[in-house]
Amino acid sequence: MDIKSLVRDIPDFPKPGILFRDITTLLRHPQGLRYTLDSLHQKCEAEGFNPDYIVGMESRGFLFAPALAYQLQAGFVPVRKPGKLPSSVHRVEYDLEYGSDALEVHQDAFGLGDRVLIVDDLLATGGTAKATAALVEQAGAEVLGFAFIIELRDLSGRTLLPEVPIVTLIEY
Ligand code: IMP
Repeated sequence: MDIKSLVRDIPDFPKPGILFRDITTLLRHPQGLRYTLDSLHQKCEAEGFNPDYIVGMESRGFLFAPALAYQLQAGFVPVRKPGKLPSSVHRVEYDLEYGSDALEVHQDAFGLGDRVLIVDDLLATGGTAKATAALVEQAGAEVLGFAFIIELRDLSGRTLLPEVPIVTLIEY
């Protein structure tokens, strides 16, 4: 199935000059959604990922990480923007094009050495995924790999990431 054809391109969103890959058109397509979730699961199994936890980043990582956790019989752990998680957190700050941002995870989300697979909708510059990996390691867990629906290859985000396997479904 050609799921790439279900992703919609929106020019100049959220800023002029940015071509936004909109996955809402893929998500609302019943067969497209099923195929996407099944393919993600199959590729992760083929890679030999056996995570204790799937980590998804706010907010579009939340669309895929729990479904993958269900299929791989793992738990789901949310990584969130600052100030959203109610208990004690680990925090990483990371640079954006203009300014910086931060991500947080609960301090008691993982046990020492737990195996973690990081999932997001899209890999662009890699800043978000790199920060999430740092957060997981700060919490004492091990990053087994990454899974993304979309990779924007021109931005070379994967070069920022730790040397673990990366699963992707669609590339531009
Ligand atoms: P990065 O940190 O530059 O790799 O950006 C990845 C993050 O930005 C992901 O969490 C994506 O949800 C979001 N993102 C960046 N560009 C797009 C896009 O074209 N479509 C959807 N999400 C995007």
